[in-house]
Amino acid sequence: TYVIAQPCVDLKDKACVDECPVDCIYEGARKLYINPDECVDCGACEPVCPVEAIYFEDDLPDGWTDFRRADTEFFADL
Ligand code: SF4
Repeated sequence: TYVIAQPCVDLKDKACVDECPVDCIYEGARKLYINPDECVDCGACEPVCPVEAIYFEDDLPDGWTDFRRADTEFFADL
């Protein structure tokens, strides 16, 4: 799955939402979240983010790897 990391917090540009072919990017209180059960790993969202907040889960920069877990917990709570 792809993951939306720190740069999205309190920004929520939403350019990615229009690109996602399966509509699996959801809005939370402070950032957007990709549903890991719905993401098809197409990568379409990654280049359109103006602040480079989106990464394939295995490519998350050091320090932002917790965002993978945060997304899982966000959808578990819905
Ligand atoms: Fe949607 Fe593709 Fe991005 Fe996954 S990688 S969130 S399916 S646009």
